[in-house]
Amino acid sequence: MIDTHAHLLMLPENGKQVIENMKYDGLEAITTIGTTIEDCRESVKLAEANKNIYAAIGIYPEYAKSTTPEVLAELKQLAKSPKVVAIGEIGLDYHTEGYDSETQKSVLVQQLKLADELGLPFCIHCRGAAEDMFNVLSENKHLINHSGLMHCYSEGAEWVQKFLGLGLYISFSGNITYKKSDRSFLKNIPLDRILIETDSPYLSPEPLRGTKNEPKNVRYVLDKIAFELEINPTKLDLITTENAKKLYYKMGK
Ligand SMILES: [Zn+2]
Repeated sequence: MIDTHAHLLMLPENGKQVIENMKYDGLEAITTIGTTIEDCRESVKLAEANKNIYAAIGIYPEYAKSTTPEVLAELKQLAKSPKVVAIGEIGLDYHTEGYDSETQKSVLVQQLKLADELGLPFCIHCRGAAEDMFNVLSENKHLINHSGLMHCYSEGAEWVQKFLGLGLYISFSGNITYKKSDRSFLKNIPLDRILIETDSPYLSPEPLRGTKNEPKNVRYVLDKIAFELEINPTKLDLITTENAKKLYYKMGK
């Protein structure tokens, strides 16, 4: 299994124990995600120090205002590391009180440009902003040459075909295991576009809700999707692992 989205820096001792136990837990790789420039610097360091850890770097929508030209230049520099596999998480979040959609959209586009310039895929965070997200991505389709993923997908059946139509991957975290989650549209997603993740330390899957999440719990996400699709989990593991390596093409190189 590959956990395509975790925040290792938010786990005890920057995920030291998690990294040590990876093999035992059936984890082939973990992508740790940056959300601020400080976080991105540390994520790259952590990835460079550990064989099967990779980094995605980007400025989270909540911190859009901090994305100065200097910050973008530093991201560009950091992305040169062989361990940086994507630009993210970037996106739109209209849940946070006092959000500024115009700044968020502009910073998103600047980071989409950066991803394209660097020849990297991007990792999208989208909360309560599906329509604006789809519009921004559609208007900037010329920047989608190395694909990207919709992280922690929660926009339901209505939007999934639209994002797939843009050539993106759909990544699921613990929220797909929740009792109230709509899983009916899973079968309409081509198998070669599905990814799994934990978003650790957030979003612990059923039956672990309420505890601090960690990458090994990606197994519950895998099992739930396999159950819904009536596929052997081992087979789905092979498929999603291959998908992750295809999108995050710098992995293992
Ligand atoms: Zn995240």
